[in-house]
Amino acid sequence: MQRLYILGTLVMILVLSTSIAAFQQAPARGARQGGGQQQPSVAGLTIDKVRDNLFVIRGGGGNTAVFITSSGVTLVDTKTFGWGQPLIERLKEITPKPVTTIINTHTHYDHVEGNPDFPATVEVITHENTAKLMPEMRDVYGIQNAGRNVFRDANGRGLPKRTFKNELTIGSGPDRIDLHYFGRAHTEGDAFVVFPALRVLHTGDAFPNKGVPIMDINNGGSAVEFPATLAKVGALPAIDVVITGHNATTLTIADVREYSEFNRAFVDDARAAKSSGQTLEAFAGSWKVPQRFLDAGYAQPTAERLRSNVEVAWKELN
Ligand SMILES: [Zn+2]
Repeated sequence: MQRLYILGTLVMILVLSTSIAAFQQAPARGARQGGGQQQPSVAGLTIDKVRDNLFVIRGGGGNTAVFITSSGVTLVDTKTFGWGQPLIERLKEITPKPVTTIINTHTHYDHVEGNPDFPATVEVITHENTAKLMPEMRDVYGIQNAGRNVFRDANGRGLPKRTFKNELTIGSGPDRIDLHYFGRAHTEGDAFVVFPALRVLHTGDAFPNKGVPIMDINNGGSAVEFPATLAKVGALPAIDVVITGHNATTLTIADVREYSEFNRAFVDDARAAKSSGQTLEAFAGSWKVPQRFLDAGYAQPTAERLRSNVEVAWKELN
């Protein structure tokens, strides 16, 4: 009887600790959209194969795309401080080729802080606005967390030396990468990365997952322009697979279009509320994700995330 009791207790502890671990991961991602509090480790990174020469490494911050070309490896995003070295270790399991290029989708800590862990010879490419923002590592609006200024600590190593304004093509044939800029959304420097031969797109955090995005006005982001920027992304031709900033699986270009509509619903509701004289507080306290998006797998935002996005919308809807 006592043995049974001890066994039962052990099972309970196991179940509890597993669910606590799952719980800790989910809110850490939701709240900070990053690798959060988890200690950096190779085990914290998982590899998903998208194509024979394209992989996603998840964990430790934003989703990292690994594109293997004839001349070397191009990475899209390099995760949070401390995760650069584990990322390098995981890469060795995929390919012996060296990393030659890093593309950062935007300036946030959980997408760029791994950069200085790579050799200084690696070419770092970003949108021109992101190149201006990265040396500053400003707070993310609504989170007030800039991470640390890894670039200052590394005497500028890992900062972009090549930038683009609207479009940039790198490489050719099967190695080709197209970079696009469509305007303000998550920040004022969101790059969209297309691998044309593979029909794959990486959106960064302009499409993080099926939830309310960060609208980081500290880094030039916008609520009002978010839907139109995403609509242009959704109109990109010949895309079968979409790697998002933080989702645990790949999505589709139809999901990008739906995400544009999701953000448009929020902005339209905010505009109507403000013009009818509703207060910021009242709108932030009452807005809910419309049912059709809940049916499509969308999550309700936290009160903090919603409040900060309503603040951004209210500033812009003057
Ligand atoms: Zn971000």
